[in-house]
Amino acid sequence: MRTVYADNAATTKMSKTAVAAMLPMLEEFYGNPSSLHTTGQIVKEKLDEARADIAKCLNAEPNEIYFTSCGTESDNLAIRTAAELGAKKGKKHIVTTAFEHHAVLHTVKKLEKQGFTVTYLPVSAHNGVLDASEVEAAIREDTALVTIMFANNEIGTIQPIEEIGRICREKKVLFHTDAVQAAGHLPIDVKKQNIDMLSLSAHKFHGPKGVGVLYAKRGVRLVNLMEGGAQEKGKRPGTENMAGIVAMAAAFKESCANMQEVSVRLTALRNKLIDGLSAIPHSALNGDREKRLPGNVNFSFEGIEGESLLLYLDDVGIEVSSGSACASASLDPSHVLLAIGVHREVAHGSVRISLGEDATEEDVDYILEKLPPIVADLREISPVWDALEKGTMTHRI
Ligand SMILES: *Cc1c(COP(=O)(O)O)cnc(C)c1O
Repeated sequence: MRTVYADNAATTKMSKTAVAAMLPMLEEFYGNPSSLHTTGQIVKEKLDEARADIAKCLNAEPNEIYFTSCGTESDNLAIRTAAELGAKKGKKHIVTTAFEHHAVLHTVKKLEKQGFTVTYLPVSAHNGVLDASEVEAAIREDTALVTIMFANNEIGTIQPIEEIGRICREKKVLFHTDAVQAAGHLPIDVKKQNIDMLSLSAHKFHGPKGVGVLYAKRGVRLVNLMEGGAQEKGKRPGTENMAGIVAMAAAFKESCANMQEVSVRLTALRNKLIDGLSAIPHSALNGDREKRLPGNVNFSFEGIEGESLLLYLDDVGIEVSSGSACASASLDPSHVLLAIGVHREVAHGSVRISLGEDATEEDVDYILEKLPPIVADLREISPVWDALEKGTMTHRI
């Protein structure tokens, strides 16, 4: 049976280039980069190279790149840093959005318990795309941080990062962006976009799991989430995950080099998929059609459960997600879909299809062949659909 892995927003397959970069780090270059002997110093060079490569792709300086264990850690580190720096100046207000990843939302929620005030900007007005003027209006005298994701992980919408960056610079407020979905897929330039801190994670761009980066602009003094040795300027101690770091750098370089070509090809496939799925009655695309990640399609189908659709699709080899992977064990509808104003009942009937860079026309055709009849079958046996059809329930897309 054909397998179409269309859950690349959850994680990606490692590229051949990344695997090839990783293997010698496991077999040959096993030294500790902090060791002064030759075996150690060869590895130290690989570490410096990886740092320089990643910095170049972001238009940052190598000494602004901090290696972490994942995107989640980078988000925590950035937000904790801004909170601590702000608190020292009596600034205890944070601006974010209602549809951030939980790595951001749960960190700012924790800070709320510790006396911070958080403004959660609504994102419903323009179908999941923020208006930069809303950020400007939310910034106060005591704002310590603006943290807004580059692109949303569920609905793929892309935020006006450069405009937000300019506003934060003018207002002298630290600006962090969770760019985990954007890195390797959208152009990033931390200087041009006025970004003070940025999180990324290797496994979202065909690198390995368990390794990420926090970019922190020169002058932003990171706090320590852990105490220990002198690695990463003492800010992020622990012997470096060399295999992960080197493979991440290789994957990032490759993704950035291929970005333009992949983006054009994926956007065409994505649009074909959106057009095809739009033909299903009482269905709707979630998030702006244009300002979205090249490979992201998120659809709601009225009267069915997204989870059931996911399982039926899996039976025919199509792998997608309902809600975000982290939340899909819970019965609550996705906070992202609720934040953009999708009705609770409708949000339950949603799936995210995230195409990888190797996606083909045949993959999209296969999805368009298999998915519509499954939705029709699920509606046949759905009491909710029955009620909707009889008019005893009123909400319709
Ligand atoms: C995947 C993801 C994260 C978490 O990254 P990990 O490396 O899995 O911890 C954070 N933010 C966004 C937007 C993501 O998509």
